[in-house]
Parts: sequence; C-alpha cells; structure tokens
Amino acid sequence: MARLGSWIESHPEGIYVRPADAWIDPSEPKPKALVTHGHSDHARGGHSAVLATPETLAIMECRYGPQSGGQPIAYGESIRVGDVEVSFVPAGHVLGSAQIVIEHKGERVVVSGDYKRRPDPTCPPFVAVPCDIFITEATFGLPVFRHPDTGSEIDRLLHRLHSDPSRCVLVGAYALGKAQRIICELRSRGHNDAIYFHGAIERLNQLYESFGVALGELRHTGDATKQEMPGHVVIAPPGALNDRWSRRLPYPVTAMASGWMRIRQRARQRNVELPLIISDHADWDELTTTIRELAPSEVWITHGREEALMHWCMTHQIKARELNLVGYEDEDD
Ligand SMILES: [Zn+2]
Repeated sequence: MARLGSWIESHPEGIYVRPADAWIDPSEPKPKALVTHGHSDHARGGHSAVLATPETLAIMECRYGPQSGGQPIAYGESIRVGDVEVSFVPAGHVLGSAQIVIEHKGERVVVSGDYKRRPDPTCPPFVAVPCDIFITEATFGLPVFRHPDTGSEIDRLLHRLHSDPSRCVLVGAYALGKAQRIICELRSRGHNDAIYFHGAIERLNQLYESFGVALGELRHTGDATKQEMPGHVVIAPPGALNDRWSRRLPYPVTAMASGWMRIRQRARQRNVELPLIISDHADWDELTTTIRELAPSEVWITHGREEALMHWCMTHQIKARELNLVGYEDEDD
C-alpha cells in the first residue's frame, strides 16, 4: 500500500499537490497557486493562476496590483482541480484566511496555513475538519507560549490610556489583521473614541470595512495636530514605533500587540513599555487541542518551533514530520 499522502510533495519553496499540478503558498512564482491567506510570506505575487478566498484575492490586489489569474473560492465551496477535490474553510487567522482541504483517492489532507482558535471579531472562527493528514504551523510550538485572554490584555491597554490623559498610547500592530483586530477588540470593550492610525494601514483598514468589518471613527495621524491626540489610541505598524514618524505624537506610551511579547527581551528590543500578548497564531494549547480534535494519522509541520510539537505527537502515537519549508516568517504577529 502506498504511503499516506504520497501524492503530496514537500519542496523548500512550498507544498506541491501533484494530481492537481498546483502549489500551496509557494514562495516563488508558479503556474498555479492555492493561497491560504494574504500575509506576504504566504501570498506572493507573480503566479499565473491563484485560487483563494475573495478576501485574500482583494488583499493580494491591494499589495501587488490586479491579479488577472485570480479565481475566488468562497468558504465551503468545493471545486475540482485536476484530479483533486479542493475546498477552503475558515482558519480564524485574519480576514479571508482559509485552511485548504484537499481530497484524493479517499485521503483527506488539511493544510491549515496560519491559524488560531480564539475568537477574532474580524473573521469567522476556525472550522475543525477531521482528516488523515493535518499540515500545521508551529509558530508558538513550545509549552511556554500560552496566550492570555484577549479581553484582559485590551483592558490593560485601556487602563493605561485612562490613567494619564496627557499621553497617547501608541500600539504597534502588524498592518494586515492585527491592526484591524485591535481596533475591533477596543470597540467591543466599549471604546468608541476616535482611534488614530499611521498611513501605512489606511488601505487595509478600508479593505476590511469594504468586507463589512466596522472599525468606527478613525483618523489619519497625518491630518491631526499634536494637541488633539492625548488621551487617544494610535495604531501603527511595528516598524514605525521607534522611527521619526513617532516624534509627532504627544509623549506616547509605546505598546506592542504580539504573541512575541511573552518574551521580555523582545519587548525591550523595541523599547516597548506596555507589552500586550495578543496573537493571531495558535498557542501551545491551541495547537495540541486542535491535533487531538482532528485526530489525524499524521501531522506535518511547516514552520516554527517544530521539535516540541513533534515530540508531543510521538507521545500521543501520531506520526509527525517536519517539512522544512523556507520563506515563512514568524514576525507577522
Ligand atoms: Zn499569517
């Protein structure tokens, strides 16, 4: 009998599904790509044909210009690609993020892309699809990574904001996904004041709103005076926290929203005064709970901290292997 998943090949530049003649999240331009989500390490430009959710295609167009070979596939829709049945189901990571479910000769393989299990007001929750092979990330694949409750982190932010109205709180947040999620989480905690944003996230804010994610009153920092910003939240990409741009802000409290804020040294490197542990990736418990729930025969790990998760799988009688893909970064959180 053939090895499970023998029709799927792992190459450094991505996962190749042979009977579909298609690549999943390839890091180099390919004739046909299936793309899990819009983060730039998964969605590269230059493919001849791209199959992705409408939201992911819109994000790719926002970044790379018109995608002539784009074919939108809605969540739950099923299509035939070559000799393979393909469907996209929510991954709960960012707007439009999908797990790709591929079925061939009675075997079902789920490629999760990046995912998380906790609620996110900007995208539908992860859907658990039982499968023979689960291909997972392991960005936070160590038992030390246990993300706290999101609401309590947002409350810490608001407490800091209200404790000194002469300052603003500048939050570093990845431009695609995290920035819009922080805004929505603030709204859901009753914060209805105007939120200021760095110009680099303007188009993605607009894109989220065009897909029905309401962000409330937003103001471009470029249109604001220093006098009007104290007592407000300002959202900017992490790279802007310590650059010249931030000098126009009134005595900011520097915060950063990332799963990496669990590591104090990372917070210090960026001069972060208020580290907020808010992640768009599964933490250790989410990774292991998901594998238990899906009960796959095999787990293949794309990127991250693979060793502890490999070991966990082995002790739970699940065959595990590392794929050693290149080009996936773990800074997108
Ligand atoms: Zn991602």
